[in-house]
Amino acid sequence: MLTADPITASQLHEKLKDVKLGGTTCLYPLEKCERYVPLINRINELKAEQNAVVLAHSYVSPEIIYGVADFVGDSYGLAKDAMSTDATTIVFAAVKFMGDTAKILNPTKEVLIPSELNGCTLADSITGDDVRKLRRENPDFMFICYINTSADVKAECDVCVTSSNAYDIVERVPSDKIYFLPDKLMGFNIIEEMKTRKVDKEIKLWDGTCYVHEEYDPDMIDYLRSQHPELRVLSHPECSPGVLQHSDYVGSTSQLLNYMKDTDAETILMLTECGITSRLQVEMPHLKFVGSCSMCRYMKSNTLQDILRVLENPRPQDVISIDEGVQARALACIEAMFEYAERK
Ligand code: SF4
Repeated sequence: MLTADPITASQLHEKLKDVKLGGTTCLYPLEKCERYVPLINRINELKAEQNAVVLAHSYVSPEIIYGVADFVGDSYGLAKDAMSTDATTIVFAAVKFMGDTAKILNPTKEVLIPSELNGCTLADSITGDDVRKLRRENPDFMFICYINTSADVKAECDVCVTSSNAYDIVERVPSDKIYFLPDKLMGFNIIEEMKTRKVDKEIKLWDGTCYVHEEYDPDMIDYLRSQHPELRVLSHPECSPGVLQHSDYVGSTSQLLNYMKDTDAETILMLTECGITSRLQVEMPHLKFVGSCSMCRYMKSNTLQDILRVLENPRPQDVISIDEGVQARALACIEAMFEYAERK
């Protein structure tokens, strides 16, 4: 792998100068960029020496996305990127369930997770034991899990979905009894969408939520529309049905970014994790954002220091390890997603 040219603090500042908190305060002054640059350049050297790549979820901090990441995206896109790379080491700047997914898809590669706080309120709401119990209680149901689940949970489910393909896969699977887990709000949205599509399926839900997306509410949207009549509201399907009904566009992380590439909207309310707003501030600095986004404490706990640490001296807890039997069954669950997602 080739070493990236070293970056300077001025170049990093120029790239990130439009990332602004509350639309006014620059989060990347030159002095801060001067602190990051030695870390960025050392990480990029080590990546080349070790044939390693950094995969970064769009929710992690901009100095990671624009400093050291080789692939940036959402859980579905990064799962595919993890399979496409010929690197021998994958550093996954995100949360643990995403590192699990990369390891399930690439059992011979070393997958490292740098974050100390790498949980997720959705993934942590359910265990493999919970699913085994549910399956005994609901033997006629097909079990569909959101990708935000551990390897143990995927190993117990029939197919997994992401926010970009959940509706289509629930419609396409050959069962009219579905147990969807763990995201209750996305589950409510699936039920609404099936009604719209006139698809008659019985759908049971687990009681998990993403703490970042559940805090948005429709009243806040109405208030901001009254202040900004030209406002365009974009939301993620982990928000509640009320929020989605008040939105102009609903999509996964990558769908939201794609929508913004082609839109004429200039004043935006982005109802998802702040990382999407930060990416748009870098890539489309003419946009005006109103309201406040919410930060995921798990995603934002990834740091350049931790990425450097796992490349220099990984600890046992930084290395993803999955039991072989669990890996094989979880892989079948993910492969079922790829198969259903590509069916028309
Ligand atoms: S944003 Fe929500 S779903 Fe995503 S990692 Fe954070 S807690 Fe989990």
